[in-house]
Amino acid sequence: MGTNTELPPHVLIFPLPMQGHINSMLKLAELFCLSNLHVTMLLSEYTHGRLRRHANIESRFSRYPGFRVATIPDGLPEDHPRVGERTMEIVMSLLKVGGAEFRKLMETTDALSDGGARRRVTCLIMDGVLSFAVPVAEEMGIPFIYFRTVGACSFWANFCFKDVIEAGEAPLKGKDEGKHEYWKKEELDLMVTSVPGMEGYLRRRDLPAFCRVNDVNDPGFQTIIRETRRTALSRGLILNSFEDLEGPILDQIRKPIPNLYSIGPLHTHLKARLESQKSEESSLPSSSFYEEDRSSMSWLDSQPPKSVLYVSFGSVTLLTRDELLEFWYGLVNSGHKFLWVMRPDSIVGDNKDNPIPAELEEATKERGYLVGWVPQNEVLAHPSVGAFFTHSGWNSTLEGIAAVMPMICWPYFADQTINSRFVSEVWKVGLDMKDSCDRVIVEKTVRDIMEVRRDEFLERALHMAELAKKSISEGGTSYTNLNRLIEFIRSSV
Ligand code: UDP
Repeated sequence: MGTNTELPPHVLIFPLPMQGHINSMLKLAELFCLSNLHVTMLLSEYTHGRLRRHANIESRFSRYPGFRVATIPDGLPEDHPRVGERTMEIVMSLLKVGGAEFRKLMETTDALSDGGARRRVTCLIMDGVLSFAVPVAEEMGIPFIYFRTVGACSFWANFCFKDVIEAGEAPLKGKDEGKHEYWKKEELDLMVTSVPGMEGYLRRRDLPAFCRVNDVNDPGFQTIIRETRRTALSRGLILNSFEDLEGPILDQIRKPIPNLYSIGPLHTHLKARLESQKSEESSLPSSSFYEEDRSSMSWLDSQPPKSVLYVSFGSVTLLTRDELLEFWYGLVNSGHKFLWVMRPDSIVGDNKDNPIPAELEEATKERGYLVGWVPQNEVLAHPSVGAFFTHSGWNSTLEGIAAVMPMICWPYFADQTINSRFVSEVWKVGLDMKDSCDRVIVEKTVRDIMEVRRDEFLERALHMAELAKKSISEGGTSYTNLNRLIEFIRSSV
């Protein structure tokens, strides 16, 4: 065993324990491992259990001798649903218990040094809403960098929330009943003037959905404002984005946070580096919380090229039965084939178990395939898939862009409402269906994406995918920024 000073730097990566956050942070962890850094992934006990059951990350990472997983409790009971609007409770619970748990872990394990086999943690990379870790890092003299797993567009809008409130543009004024019909159209369609760089296309309905509260003192809204502002206190900010995608907004963020590392799309970045190092494993690691149903791949194999619309609303979206039926009828009535991820826990409401109309079941046998969870990146890369109907989570948005997918966006909450605006108005690679859930609109939008406006969106999608590829290739902006980040980590031991 070498002396302590000969050991590589040791990065502690601390994601918010949610699927989307872990997906991107785990890819960053593997990129660091490929650069021979030592890495500890700090997971909640709950998410570690899900990953062990469905993704087997320990086996994937066993080839990297400096990689470990550490866990802390998230403070929620095991049977907490951790989906839909209740995901905010994960953040609130961690903010309550996380500081003490994190301190205990760092102190009792001598900063995760494995009895001298690794350095004590030399750099902390933490999710953007976990500022409770900061005092511990500061006391231990560990430099810390934030990683916000959302897009620059959403981060920047969150960062400007104080100005948005002062301008009277948030929160939206409404009572908290019903989800999509409730907010007043006249108010939703007003333009937002207080987010620099987004004047001219951002409407109130596009603001991150945290603004959809009645009370400016809403604890969730205030938490987002406070935690986002704190980002400016760190040594840098990592974003899973790239300059050719969000350059003007990244430039805005550089004003308060000059040390910015835009290193995305992380999934293709990792794949490219695995391939260039001729790693024994060049496929992407699975980090699924759910069992992946591979029968979807065989079904796709039997479909004509570009004929299938892939439909997925991510890991936490919930649908009422009425919404489910509107989507379902719209899809079936469009006449197009579809592969639809319907998570087992995603349908809610008193009538959620009512039988599905027989005509829908029949039509689906002919042209649809329903599954509980798929290997999404493999699906998006499949030649039979022609477009992506998505909830506009940030990972899905980047995955869709990299896979040349025209997109239909149906944002559910959080950052998704602004991501979908960028997809439709800025990058022009898809259509935004936010705030509507009606079978006639679904049918028309599917036809637009799959036939009527297909060429227009495909041309743009091809262009964006090329830019994404360029960014992670040698000399590209994300490639260079990742190297700069690794240099920073090496220089701060
Ligand atoms: N995903 C997957 N299989 C599925 C559905 C989703 O692997 O059947 C992955 C998807 O590739 C993405 C992540 O789950 O990386 C969802 O993250 P995103 O940020 O898009 O949305 P969230 O789930 O956080 O709302």
